Amino acid sequence: MKKIISTEWFLMKFMFETDMMLGILYWFICGIQYTIPLINVWIWKLVIDQLTEIYLYGFINTLIWVYIGSYLFLHVFSSILREVGSIVGEKINRLATRKLDLLVMQKMAYLDIGFFDNPQNDDKIVAAQTSETYITGNMSWVIETVIGIISFTAGLIMFLSQNVVFGLVYMATYIPGAIFSYKHRKQVDQWSLNNIPETRKKDYYKSLLVDEHTAKDLRLYNLANYFKSKYNELWTKIRHERELLFVKGSVVSFFASLLTYMGIVAILLISVRSVILGTMEISMLVLYIGLAETSGERFKQIVENLGCQIDIDVPRVISFLDFLQCENEIKDTGTSEIPDYPEIEFRNVYFRYPGKKEYVLNNLNLKIESGKKVALVGVNGAGKTTLVKLLLRFYQPESGEILIGGKNIQSYSSSTLNRLFGVCFQNVQKYSLSLRENIAVSDISRLSDDDGILAAATAAGADGICKSLPDGIDTNMTRRFDNKGVELSGGQWQKIAIARAFFRDAQFIILDEPSSALDPEAEDCVFSSFGKLCKNKGGILISHRLSSIMMVDEIILLDKGSVLESGTHSELMKMKGKYAEMYSLQAEKYVGGTKNEQD
Ligand code: ADP
Repeated sequence: MKKIISTEWFLMKFMFETDMMLGILYWFICGIQYTIPLINVWIWKLVIDQLTEIYLYGFINTLIWVYIGSYLFLHVFSSILREVGSIVGEKINRLATRKLDLLVMQKMAYLDIGFFDNPQNDDKIVAAQTSETYITGNMSWVIETVIGIISFTAGLIMFLSQNVVFGLVYMATYIPGAIFSYKHRKQVDQWSLNNIPETRKKDYYKSLLVDEHTAKDLRLYNLANYFKSKYNELWTKIRHERELLFVKGSVVSFFASLLTYMGIVAILLISVRSVILGTMEISMLVLYIGLAETSGERFKQIVENLGCQIDIDVPRVISFLDFLQCENEIKDTGTSEIPDYPEIEFRNVYFRYPGKKEYVLNNLNLKIESGKKVALVGVNGAGKTTLVKLLLRFYQPESGEILIGGKNIQSYSSSTLNRLFGVCFQNVQKYSLSLRENIAVSDISRLSDDDGILAAATAAGADGICKSLPDGIDTNMTRRFDNKGVELSGGQWQKIAIARAFFRDAQFIILDEPSSALDPEAEDCVFSSFGKLCKNKGGILISHRLSSIMMVDEIILLDKGSVLESGTHSELMKMKGKYAEMYSLQAEKYVGGTKNEQD
């Protein structure tokens, strides 16, 4: 009960917080709109009273014109209110939807990255997004219920004061319908909640067919029919279940309405009989039928809505609020300032991804001294990228510590920490924005720093791209929104991503596989820029191209999440260990290639 009251309070507050004036106006309009039908029923009773007097005494009271005029006026007024109400309702709904969208966006932007590793959390996100309509749809529930209760009580008192049987019939005919409708809504809601994973999968198959990134595979491997059939299979299954539910709902609703009409007919028959017997005035008959229809319908709504509120709407609103309140496991409470060019150390770090048994980092110990650059090498899956993710605090170690400037990483706020790093991730993020924005996203406050953007582009070997673009750095990348936009190759995008990392002017640069799509010339440019730009800075370079990483101060070979070997290139070669083996293997290929070419 406490949860229901607090949820209703939240909904009411949310409406007024969205727009106070519109909220008050909406309440006012709702109040009047629900009251007018009751007044109309009463006016009809008065008109019939007047007609009876004319019939009995032949005397026309001018009041009858006042009543008819009032009836007309209320009808016109009600129509105007209905239109104004729908405009106000629509506007407040749109504003509320925007507010909810912003809340969800804000939350999504600050959730731990680990949150997205769990598919159940993806279901939670979808559930929260679909719950938005439950909030906007229920903002006016309190006022509607209050007015509904008042109008129903007025009808009930009137019936009971005249005839207890009428009162009981009046209630009894609406209760089954209300209960059936509520049960049906609950079933539909439960069904859609249970179907979120299936619906997500169906939407995924659709996205594979419409997404530009899969367009090549679709054509090359002729996959369209395969994905279409998977989509269709799920669509048919979901649709079938849904249709069954709706047919069931319609049948139930038909019988519930039939029962209601039988109740109204019963009231009509008893009233007609009483009028014929002279124990009831005709005007009361009109009043009863009018009340049975208007207040009775309200009563049905109240019972139905109350059940739905308790079982469906409130839990959905609560699930939305729970999503907004879900706490990050990584607490962002640090307040320390990071010293300039800090030393970085991983001390006895163990880490495994949420829900996974295997450790990805296994007693990892390494130190990057102030202003030094290291290269991380190792086979795929050794844990190199994971190490970077922990350093950026996307995840936190299960045990052990990461120290920056001698202090635990937790003592810095995420914004302080983020400022330290300029990062180029393995998966290049391509924004359908201008080249300027694509580079400056790493420090958006310097969006108009043309010189900085060009310098970063040059360091990443992307100056040639800038010169070739029709509108220079203001040319749109991709043609998604602009036919004059430019589509870049994978290697060119990689250069832009590297420029992004360089533009940030951070004290520590991290390049994760920066040259996988680069031509040898561009690769050389990036590696020498890394050396030059990181002159006094710290840096991590992850690369499989062992011949290109020799400019770093230390090479660290990771194996199964811990350091297997470390040292300079010549030290590692002298060790004749795993690094020397990997290096020789690559060198042989190059030498072999040259030999073959010479042959
Ligand atoms: P590397 O960069 O050395 O190639 P990664 O650090 O990317 O390796 O990955 C190390 C291991 O962690 C791999 O076995 C990979 O499958 C696993 N892994 C990476 N990301 C996730 C994730 N989000 N959830 C679960 N396992 C992951």
